[in-house]
Amino acid sequence: MAARVVAIDGPAGSGKSTLAERMARVLDLPYVNTGLMYRAVTLRALRQGVDLEDGQALAQVALGIRFDLSSRFEPPALVIDGDPPSAELVAPEVEVNVSTVSRHPEVRAVLRDEQRRLGSRGAVMEGRDIGSVVFPDAAVKIFLVAAPDERAARRVRERREPDPGGGLPSSDGPPVAPDLAEALATRDARDEQVNPFVPALDAVPLDTTGSDPDEVLREALAIARERLEASGG
Ligand code: C5P
Repeated sequence: MAARVVAIDGPAGSGKSTLAERMARVLDLPYVNTGLMYRAVTLRALRQGVDLEDGQALAQVALGIRFDLSSRFEPPALVIDGDPPSAELVAPEVEVNVSTVSRHPEVRAVLRDEQRRLGSRGAVMEGRDIGSVVFPDAAVKIFLVAAPDERAARRVRERREPDPGGGLPSSDGPPVAPDLAEALATRDARDEQVNPFVPALDAVPLDTTGSDPDEVLREALAIARERLEASGG
């Protein structure tokens, strides 16, 4: 049985980051945003001119990045090579290429091992495959779903609003540029084609359509507490 691992999986715009970060704070666990890890590999590969079709080369890039949890955040969260996640991780060039990078099994294997290490003492971990692949024994597995329109609206909003747990910069500045909105849509479509994630069979589905974040948090915490109690955690 994994140590107090809470897996929050779901597609972009399902409200994962907000929920996972808040749950981590309430449950007194570190918060791990695994999407940032795929983004970090993508950004580094683009900078180094690595062929995005070469899974082996990309795995080497992934192995060269140090991922840690830092308690300079509250709750403790991911740092990449010692630094907080940068704004470049959500730039359009990363948005359009991250699905190409994340579909390589070699990359996934490296990041899966890193994620297991980061979560080995307990964590709230958000992603696509946490409950199914990374921590199949997680005490709590929640799979978020939301109607397509709401996901699209949320994705755009997420790029404007502060993302405290993820450490991404707040931007109460200009509206999302059309190229970023397009890149988000392209990524979604590509993820659905090349990375069709299937929820773990024992994940509890939670539909966030029309719910405010407080309501989603309350429901998710009720599920988590019940499961943690049942698992003795
Ligand atoms: O969570 P976020 O939307 O930032 O993730 C960025 C990309 O990383 C996703 O579009 C997906 O391609 C990939 N990803 C993944 N597995 C995860 C988390 C993210 O393949 N556990």
